[in-house]
Amino acid sequence: MIIVGGGLAAGRAAKTLRDEGFSGDVVLLASERHLPYSRPALSKDYLRGESSRDSLFTMNSDWWDAHNVETHLGSAAVALDTARHKVTLSDGRSFRFSRLLLATGSTARVPRLPGADLAGVHTLRTLEDADALSSGLERARNDGDPIVIIGDGLIGLEAAASARALGLDVTVIGHGPLPLARPLGSRIGEYYTFLHIRNGVRIRRNTSVAEILGTKGRATGVQLSSGHALPAALVLIAIGADPNVGLAAGAGIALAPHDLGGGVLVNDTLQTSHPDVFAAGDIANIPVTALHRTARVDHWATALNTGAHAARAMLGNSTSYDRLPYFYSDQFATSMEFTGLLPCGQAHELIVSGSVQDDRFAAVWRTKGRAQAVLTVNLPDRMDDAEALIRTSASASERALSFAH
Ligand SMILES: Cc1cc2nc3c(=O)[nH]c(=O)nc-3n(C[C@H](O)[C@H](O)[C@H](O)COP(=O)(O)OP(=O)(O)OC[C@H]3O[C@@H](n4cnc5c(N)ncnc54)[C@H](O)[C@@H]3O)c2cc1C
Repeated sequence: MIIVGGGLAAGRAAKTLRDEGFSGDVVLLASERHLPYSRPALSKDYLRGESSRDSLFTMNSDWWDAHNVETHLGSAAVALDTARHKVTLSDGRSFRFSRLLLATGSTARVPRLPGADLAGVHTLRTLEDADALSSGLERARNDGDPIVIIGDGLIGLEAAASARALGLDVTVIGHGPLPLARPLGSRIGEYYTFLHIRNGVRIRRNTSVAEILGTKGRATGVQLSSGHALPAALVLIAIGADPNVGLAAGAGIALAPHDLGGGVLVNDTLQTSHPDVFAAGDIANIPVTALHRTARVDHWATALNTGAHAARAMLGNSTSYDRLPYFYSDQFATSMEFTGLLPCGQAHELIVSGSVQDDRFAAVWRTKGRAQAVLTVNLPDRMDDAEALIRTSASASERALSFAH
């Protein structure tokens, strides 16, 4: 069994193969120099220096030897020959497999922007990115310099909240009318705008960046298309991430169309278009059976659950993957959880209950009387109820009206 990738999906898959009693060869091929680790803390407690590097790792370093899993770190898999069941690394070594899992995750998007290569310009995906960003934030704080975050999605906003918590002067630039409006709609976007403004973050909407300015190779500010310039000793680019599908595409494995989320197409057992190749985590475009749709769900819980499910499927278990998408985000004192899928292109209603003003509410998206997605803010342990609401019939979903209570 070969696992390609070094993130949460890969780590969970390796653990599940052994937990399920598989005693044959398990080989992990990962391009980063680290054993599999989990990324959410990189924009939160780890970035703020509140948690240790060790706490990021899926399993401690002893686990891999103790469970006889062979790991090859620091070289990317560059070619997959499905006919010969062979995968080749950038250093020329190749490995034969009977079954292979693709868990290659995503790469932070970098715009073609003049100045994007200046010192002081960051992205945030890896442990090294977080370490570099953390040192940059500390320097900016000590020098009293402002910082700019380009991108008002979840990672941009989480990093903004962490930087504010560290006492920095933060501006977030988004090119849409509201932060988070694309993934979560304008009502939730408004909530997050005011949450950040209340906590001292400057939010610039409908704004695009023309250039990152610099002197002597180091960023000094951001030139907006409007002609204004913002000073910044540090710029974080957080405009999303793209799935690493090159290996799959090169092997002729079917991909999902871009407008359906892209990624590698898998069936309900997470098998790709090749029967011996499976995919999990950020790169997999998975069936969401309960909502009769497919989606690429690039969040932590999907990596965790699909990594384990794919490992069982590789061992011959044909159970369907039937989890609802789930993600969470922590910003300031606000813990948000979300499950389901937002209705796309369909008429829908959004029912908000609880108190938005007091940062304690639920939002339920309904289409034809049936709940499609539930978001909660500071309502812990309600995701099982939310899932039940989504899986329930339309007539029972009157519960949506008062979900927060
Ligand atoms: C800063 C940050 C904060 C986040 N916060 C949250 C959060 O609060 N809530 C939430 O739900 N989700 C969050 N996420 C998303 C979550 O971390 C991802 O969905 C998850 O990491 C996906 O796991 P994965 O194993 O599929 O891929 P990844 O974690 O991306 O791991 C893939 C690994 O495969 C390696 N790889 C790629 N190509 C190859 C190759 N050809 N050969 C070998 N190895 C290869 C990569 O280098 C990488 O190490 C966050 C992500 C980031 C970056």
